[in-house]
Amino acid sequence: MSVTIKTEHEIELMRESGHLLEKVHDGLIPYIKPGITTKELDRIGEEMIRSLGCIPNFLNYGGFPGSFCISLNDEVVHGIPSEDKVIRDGDLVKIDAGLIYKGYHSDAARTYAVGEVSQEARQLMDVTRQCFFEGIKYAKAGNHLNDISKAIGAYAAKYHYGIVRDLVGHGIGTHLHEDPQIPNFPQKRRGVKLIPGMTLAIEPMINLGCPDVAWLDDEWTVVTMDGSLSAHYENTILITDGEPEILTLTK
Ligand code: MG
Repeated sequence: MSVTIKTEHEIELMRESGHLLEKVHDGLIPYIKPGITTKELDRIGEEMIRSLGCIPNFLNYGGFPGSFCISLNDEVVHGIPSEDKVIRDGDLVKIDAGLIYKGYHSDAARTYAVGEVSQEARQLMDVTRQCFFEGIKYAKAGNHLNDISKAIGAYAAKYHYGIVRDLVGHGIGTHLHEDPQIPNFPQKRRGVKLIPGMTLAIEPMINLGCPDVAWLDDEWTVVTMDGSLSAHYENTILITDGEPEILTLTK
């Protein structure tokens, strides 16, 4: 699949899709408390998505059994919502969500600290979020994809964190995953040239320890190989003639 350039009309739909997803993320925040199960969060979130007239795009994607990926602590991404997983004080909770609005996908992830977390956990969260913002400084027409990857990787490297290499960001549109792939570390090639109308899901996944990850036997949950904490932050953005527009974060 080649990289798609969205028309004005498509951009309008992508924008609405992103804004609705931001609403879902924000709506879930009050529920991310000790005692709730990740299954219950998933149920509440799915209801929000459907009440907005949208479809959860993760549900049944490749057979994924939830509407949200909810990953705790050393789980990097793709945690399956479960009745056996209870949120506890001190957890790092990663909520990855996506929806389809009139055929157009949005995708965004946040990491939350529940109650008191360690200073190093707090820094990992903050740096991972900042990696996204460092990356999109280069998300401008005429630049190349690797400019974004380099900036994300360079910022995480300053803190000697492990940048996950086995999972990457992606183009997005009428499909959840479109070309191009967007690594969070520098590449040998400069990658595709950025053109107004491209919509991209940029998503640093950063570990406190080594960058290596493993897949659990549930075939979905990705964990850090060394058991260290991991953080994830993602937004769907639009390449414009000027500054990039963050479709899943308006405030
Ligand atoms: Mg994504």
